[in-house]
Parts: sequence; C-alpha cells; structure tokens
Amino acid sequence: MQNLTILGSTGSIGTSTLDVVARHPDRFRVFALTAFRQVDLLFKQCVQFKPQYAVLLDATAVAQMRVRVKEAGLQMEVLSGVEALEQVSQAAEVDAVMAAIVGAAGLRPTLAAAKAGKKILLANKETLVMAGNVFMDAVKLSGSALLPIDSEHNAIFQALPRGYDGDKASAGVRRILLTASGGPFRNTPLEQLRDVTPEQACAHPNWVMGRKISVDSASMMNKGLEVIEAHWLFNASADDIQVVVHPQSVIHSLVEYVDGSVIAQLGNPDMRTPIAYGLAYPERIDSGVGSLDLFKVATMNFVAPDFERFPCLALAYQALRTAGTAPAMLNAANEVAVEAFLDKRITFLDIPKIIEQVLNQLSVCPVHELEDVLLADAQARTAAAAKLG
Ligand code: NAD
Ligand code: MG
Repeated sequence: MQNLTILGSTGSIGTSTLDVVARHPDRFRVFALTAFRQVDLLFKQCVQFKPQYAVLLDATAVAQMRVRVKEAGLQMEVLSGVEALEQVSQAAEVDAVMAAIVGAAGLRPTLAAAKAGKKILLANKETLVMAGNVFMDAVKLSGSALLPIDSEHNAIFQALPRGYDGDKASAGVRRILLTASGGPFRNTPLEQLRDVTPEQACAHPNWVMGRKISVDSASMMNKGLEVIEAHWLFNASADDIQVVVHPQSVIHSLVEYVDGSVIAQLGNPDMRTPIAYGLAYPERIDSGVGSLDLFKVATMNFVAPDFERFPCLALAYQALRTAGTAPAMLNAANEVAVEAFLDKRITFLDIPKIIEQVLNQLSVCPVHELEDVLLADAQARTAAAAKLG
C-alpha cells in the first residue's frame, strides 16, 4: 500500500491521478490533497478519498473548506500556505508525492519531497527548469526515486535501459528525439498569429491540459521547457536533444542508440498512461486508457521545428546553453507573459518578445543553491512585469 500526497490535485494532472488511484484501492491511499483555491472540487475529492490533510493557498478558501469539512464530519485537517505544502510532501507517513502544481509555485514542495527521499512523480517541469542542479542533487543525496510524468520524458524513461544513470556512453545512447505536437498554431498563417485569443491558444488539438501549459504548447515554450527538463533528467546536452514535430501525438518520444536502433513509446494521448506507469513502477497497472488503434491513426508525420514561427523554442535552447540562472529567468518571464496574455493585456507575439528582452537585460549567475534561483526568478518577474505597460 502506497501513501500518496497529490500536490495540485484539482488540476488536469491531479484529477487524472485520482482517476487512476480510484481504480486501485488495494494499492494506493491518499494522505494529502492540495489546491490553490478550488474549494468545491477539493472538498469533493476529500469526501471520496478521505485524506488526512487538505492544503489550500488562498485564505478565504481555507476558511470555507474548514466549515465544509466540519459540517460533513470528515476526520481531517485543513492547512494553509507554502509551509503546509512542504509539510505534507515530507511527512514520514508519505511514500510518494505527485508534483502537479503548475509553475514556479511547485518548486518548494517538490524540493521538500526530494530532500525527504520520497518517490517523486514529477509533472511540474518548472522545478527542473528553474533549479535543475539543486533538485537533482537533492534527489541523489536522499536516494529519491524520480519518475518523469511529462508524457515525453516518461516515454524516454521507458525507452532507456532500466537503471540508466546518466552515462550515455555506457548505455550506448546517441541522442534523444523529443516529439512535439506543434500545438494549435502549427499551420496558422504568421500574420494571423498576432490576433489569436487565449481561447484559441488553449484549444489544443490532442491534449486537454491546464491553461498555462496550453499556452506554452501553442508557443512551443512547453517544448523548450521540456528540452531543459530532458537535459536534467537524462544528462543530455542541448545538442543531444532533437525536437521532432509529430502532429498526431501518438509517439510520445524516442531514444536513438549507437547501433542505429531507435526505441519509441506509443499510446493514446492520455496522461493517465504515464501517471499509472509512475504510480506502479516497476509494475504495470490498468490506467483506464484504451487500446491504441493503429488503423485509425493510419499515418504519422514528422517535421523539423520552425524556430522562426516559434521563437520561444529557440529562446529555451539558448537559455539551456547559457546555463546558470538563465533557464530560471526564462521560466519566470514566460510565466508573467503567459498570465498577461491570458488576461488579454498583451498579444500572443508579445510573449517571446518580453522573454527575450528580459534575458538580454539581466545578467546570468551560476546556481549554487536555491537562493540563487529564487533571486533570479524574482528579478525576471519584476523585469517582465515592467514591460507589460
Ligand atoms: P492545472 O492548471 O490544471 O492545475 C494546477 C494545479 O496547481 C491546481 O490544482 C491548482 O489549484 C494548483 N495551483 C495553481 N497555482 C498554485 C499555487 N500558486 N500554489 C499552490 N497550488 C497551485 O495544471 P496542469 O495542466 O495539471 O499542470 C500541472 C503541471 O504538470 C504543470 O507543471 C505542467 O507543466 C505539468 N504537465 C501537465 C500536463 C497536462 O497534460 N496537463 C502534461 C505534462 C506536464
Ligand atoms: Mg509534455
């Protein structure tokens, strides 16, 4: 029986995780669920999964949740704040933590889980983008098992030899082929990109996801963040990672070996597959995902990424090559710009412009500890906010 903390349980990944968990009451118990402020859904989840703790970040939401928990007579505590997120991530009773908070807010609790040696199911890619070396050092030091949940990284993990430790040469790995759907604007005429709306950006052709990652997919910043994520997870350099646009999203990524073999992982585009893999690893369990109908897929296409159409992807490669605090700054400027785009304060094409200006303006420092990352994150947020006008 695994005792789970699910950070961000009300989100797209969080609800998919609970869907898988509900299929296996003999294997998983929920210790804690957390959300920013979605009281209704969090309460419903607490009634169904009976955790010991629920954590909310918004003060009004905490008060509402406490009233509802009391009225319903649930035997649980409602906590608030970032410290509480850390507490439920590192608690002695917890075996595994699903890190599914969106954005930089996921960093502290995910790092807490790593320091406490928990099994980590990592969906929050921003943790690795911001603080890759700090996080990976914590994982190594504590002996945490780290299971990538991002579908591409989960595919790569499955296609690598079991126990791969980052030594590409001894594993015979030549390169990583990271697939990308190309998002909803893959074929949109360039002159129309300026006027696309948040609703259009969030209407992803293959995946249903939270709004921030949906915009990132439309700009291909998501793939850029994933290149950086792959760098830290698999010890691959920017040159070792080739992005491949594959609009059908059936192949979730591939690993090429020195003998010319290429191993891919395929499946329906449904996050419950990588989630179930991470939850049960090294076993396999039912995820609720149906069979892949190859006859229905029929054709698969592959094209090289267009860096002119998707400048965010080029900016992410550049930040990875620059290293130090550059990826943290890229991530922070992107979060500010995406939020402004979702609020209709800037256009879609302003997103890469703001990020580029922030990266050109600020000086990059080496990352020795978490504080270096948090400082760079704050500086980049201030710089990006100043450009919103
Ligand atoms: P989402 O927006 O649907 O859910 C985010 C969750 O985090 C919610 O539970 C929300 O309440 C919580 N949250 C938001 N802001 C918070 C804050 N400041 N403090 C604490 N909690 C907060 O997002 P999602 O699509 O589920 O994505 C979650 C993470 O997983 C992201 O890092 C994303 O990049 C990654 N991911 C998602 C998918 C997907 O298919 N959705 C695929 C791969 C990776
Ligand atoms: Mg992905």
